[in-house]
Amino acid sequence: MTNVTLVTGDGIGPEIAEATRRCIDATGADINWEITEAGIDVMETKGTPLPEETLASIRKNGVALKAPITTPVGTGFRSINVHLRQELNLFACVRPCKSYKGVRSKYSDIDLVVVRENTEDLYAGVEFEKGNDDTLELINWLNKHSKRPISDTTGISIKPISVEGTERIVRFAFEYAQKMGRRKVTSVHKANIMKFTDGLWLEVSRDVASEYPDIEFEDRIVDNMCMQLIQKPELYDVIVLPNLYGDILSDLCAGLVGGLGMAPGANIGIDGAIFEATHGSAPKYAGQNKVNPTALILSGALMLSHLEMRSEAAKLEKAVAMVIAEGKDVTYDMKADRNDPTAVGTQEMADAIIEKIKSL
Ligand code: NAD
Repeated sequence: MTNVTLVTGDGIGPEIAEATRRCIDATGADINWEITEAGIDVMETKGTPLPEETLASIRKNGVALKAPITTPVGTGFRSINVHLRQELNLFACVRPCKSYKGVRSKYSDIDLVVVRENTEDLYAGVEFEKGNDDTLELINWLNKHSKRPISDTTGISIKPISVEGTERIVRFAFEYAQKMGRRKVTSVHKANIMKFTDGLWLEVSRDVASEYPDIEFEDRIVDNMCMQLIQKPELYDVIVLPNLYGDILSDLCAGLVGGLGMAPGANIGIDGAIFEATHGSAPKYAGQNKVNPTALILSGALMLSHLEMRSEAAKLEKAVAMVIAEGKDVTYDMKADRNDPTAVGTQEMADAIIEKIKSL
C-alpha cells in the first residue's frame, strides 16, 4: 500500500478532493490516504494556514494530491502554494494540455506538456523597491558598471538563470519525454535579447539535448512560440521554459484545450511531488456541489502515473474522457448553455466517472 497525503484545501477544495479520492479508489489503486488540511478554514482553528502535520505528512510520504487553497489579498499570510514549492524544492511544474472530445474548444488533437522551471528567473523574489537605500546603492553600482543609465526612480526585479537550475529542468523535460514515450522537446527563450540569462538557458538546453539523441530537440523564441502555439499547436510535444514564460504559456496552452476546468498539474522536486489542478479555490462556488472536478481528477491520474500505477492511471483518464465525450453527466461549465438544467453536480459527475471505471 502507498501512503499519499491528501490536502483538502479550502473554497471548492474539499468537494473536488472528495470526488477525486473516490474516483482514484474506484480504479483499485492501493493507496492509503492521509487526509490533511491547509488554507483559510484551518487558519481559523489552528492559527496557521499550513499546520506542521500537513507539511510533515507530505515530507514523509513524498507524494501529495492537493486541492486549491485561497491566498487572501492583503492579510500578510504568504501563498501556501509558493511556500510548499519552496519548502519541498519543487523545481518542475508539469502541465499536460490535451484535447478531449466533448470539450468546447477551437482546437482538437492537442497533446502537449508544458514543463516550467519553478524556482529561478524573475519570480525568484530578488526585488528592489523604488527609492530604497539598497536600491539606490544598486543603481549607483550599475550606473558605474554598465553603459545604460538607470534612473533613481526605478524599481528592479532580478532575473537569475543558473547553469544548475537550467540543466536540472531541461534534463527533467528529457527524462519525462523518455519515460512517457514522447518524441520531441522544445526549449523556449528570448536568447536574442537576453544573452546572459536566456542565452545561457539555450546553451545549456543544447548541451543537455545532446545526451538524448533519441528525442528530437528544437528551440523557439518565446514570442514566435506564442504565435506557433495558436497557429500550429499540433507541432509541439514537450515544451520546457524558464519560470516567467512558463507561467504565461501554461495558461495559453490550458486555453487551447478548454480552459482551467480541464487543466491538471504537478509540481515535482527533490523532496517530493504535489499534484494539483491549475485553477484556484473559486470561493464563490464553495459548498455548492457545483464545480467541475475534472482538473483535480486528471491531476490524480498524473499522480498514479508518477507512482508507476500506469494501468490505474489509464483507466481513470479513459473514464473521464468517456464521461466528457458523452456530455450528459457533466457539470454546468461543460454544457453548451451554462444554465442547462441537466448539468449535474461535482459528486454526481464523479459517480458517473466511477461507473465508467467499473465498466472498463
Ligand atoms: P479560480 O481558478 O479559483 O476561479 C476563477 C473562476 O474560474 C471561478 O470563479 C469559476 O468561474 C471558474 N472555475 C475555477 N475552477 C473551476 C472548476 N473546477 N469548475 C468550474 N469553474 C471553475 O481563480 P481566482 O478566483 O483568481 O482565485 C481564487 C483563489 O484561489 C485565490 O485566493 C487564488 O490565490 C487561489 N488560487 C489557488 C491556486 C492553488 O491552490 N494552486 C491556484 C490558483 C489560484
